[in-house]
Amino acid sequence: MKLSPVILWFRHDLRLQDNPALSAAACWWLHHSLASLDGGLRAHKSRLVLMRGDRLDALRTLVRETAAGAVYWNRRPEPVATAHDQRVAANLAADGIEVKTFGGALLFEPQAVANQAGHPFRVFTPFWRHCRALPVEAPKRWRARDLPAPARWPRSLTLDGLKLLPAVRWDAGLTRTWQPGEKGAQARLRRFTAGELDTYAEGRNRPDREGTSRLSPHLHFGEISPRQVWAAVRRQEKKSPSLPPGRAVQAFLGEIGWREFAGHLIHHFPATPREPLRAEFTWFPWRKNAAALRAWQRGCTGFPIVDAGMRQLRHTGWMHNRVRMIVASFLVKDLLIPWQEGAKWFWDTLVDADLANNTLGWQWTTGCGADAAPYFRVFNPVLQGKKFDPDGAYVRRWVPELAPLRANFIHAPWETPPEVLARAGVELGTTYPRPIVDHRLARAEALAAYEQMKQLCG
Ligand SMILES: Cc1cc2nc3c(=O)[nH]c(=O)nc-3n(C[C@H](O)[C@H](O)[C@H](O)COP(=O)(O)OP(=O)(O)OC[C@H]3O[C@@H](n4cnc5c(N)ncnc54)[C@H](O)[C@@H]3O)c2cc1C
Repeated sequence: MKLSPVILWFRHDLRLQDNPALSAAACWWLHHSLASLDGGLRAHKSRLVLMRGDRLDALRTLVRETAAGAVYWNRRPEPVATAHDQRVAANLAADGIEVKTFGGALLFEPQAVANQAGHPFRVFTPFWRHCRALPVEAPKRWRARDLPAPARWPRSLTLDGLKLLPAVRWDAGLTRTWQPGEKGAQARLRRFTAGELDTYAEGRNRPDREGTSRLSPHLHFGEISPRQVWAAVRRQEKKSPSLPPGRAVQAFLGEIGWREFAGHLIHHFPATPREPLRAEFTWFPWRKNAAALRAWQRGCTGFPIVDAGMRQLRHTGWMHNRVRMIVASFLVKDLLIPWQEGAKWFWDTLVDADLANNTLGWQWTTGCGADAAPYFRVFNPVLQGKKFDPDGAYVRRWVPELAPLRANFIHAPWETPPEVLARAGVELGTTYPRPIVDHRLARAEALAAYEQMKQLCG
């Protein structure tokens, strides 16, 4: 019997292991990740075929050119992806092509997780308690072997032809920081489980340290699966008696849990990338302030911890979670700029820009999402800086014009005696901006805006 070829449609699963079916900064990542995936496939006498345009048209062309009888892919939780999948699957099936889709982007299928009333969870703790009682499937091992090739390889665009790399080479910081691809992801995971995992419970809140896994872009692009991360952490836990009983592991798996929660939320509440889950926030009296938005984007707000975070983002395409919360709170509460503006900027600049996690992060900080922080919790950027960057090392790294300042001054240069500033070569308004708002007043205005919203929506 002559078997017809099967097309494997790679989406956000750019890996060969645990692959059930065997997007500015993100484009840069995508370029290198595709190169790595192609390299991996070529090592097994196969290759990646790149196409552009409508996905159904592209797959139909491939089917025609290879005489394939089947198309397999892994599902994505995002609603837009689900809608595309359904259209593609229905049309291919109507053409007589076998279609199989698989899970794997998340630990559990969103449809399979519900509260006692059969509704999706909106609060993290019961969601995660429920999930922890479910078995996590072991990663699927793919025994490396040569892959059967079609009789004739179909036409493919070249990777350079996709023009994913920036024309102006601003990507030196990215290149120094990251190794996109499955190998890079595995190396990151190994380094983390053998190192920082031990101290994750405390280290994860310190932007001045390498205390977290930095797996987020690898997870986003599916170069590694959450099941693989889960299994590796569990293995390490068993063999490492030095770990305090479960604390670090629980803390880390809890973050994988937040990723899971985000994926389930976006599946059940598909409008949330645009609209607040808590509908009353539609009435929030947001402000338009292009100059303040620009200052925030460029890391020139005059608040060192905020500026350090925004510059780390521009330089490396990544920002520490604690600082993401601080800069987000600053945008939506100190500046009263809509969270969607912040989410959009993150979307354009993060290497791990992920619709589900980004939406959850912004709605959580704003107070308008699932299990959101209470509105009155307005982060004080100076206190946050002092608490989580106590020596000022993080600010010194990303805001070098403040580097000569000692730790007790570096988080609030405007409160620093003029002679200390002069000795450090800091001239406020010239070498480093004055604060663009008075945090105490801004906080009061934010709370007043919240009261106004409550009155408006009755
Ligand atoms: C305003 C805001 C926007 C965010 N936007 C994104 C985004 O676009 N993409 C993204 O991947 N994460 C986002 N996050 C979540 C979090 O900041 C990053 O996942 C984390 O900083 C990535 O670093 P890490 O891999 O070292 O994390 P670790 O602490 O090592 O955590 C391991 C993994 O767990 C997941 N994770 C950790 N924290 C969270 C969280 N709070 N919510 C959901 N998943 C989490 C990530 O996949 C991460 O790689 C956002 C958070 C905020 C507050």
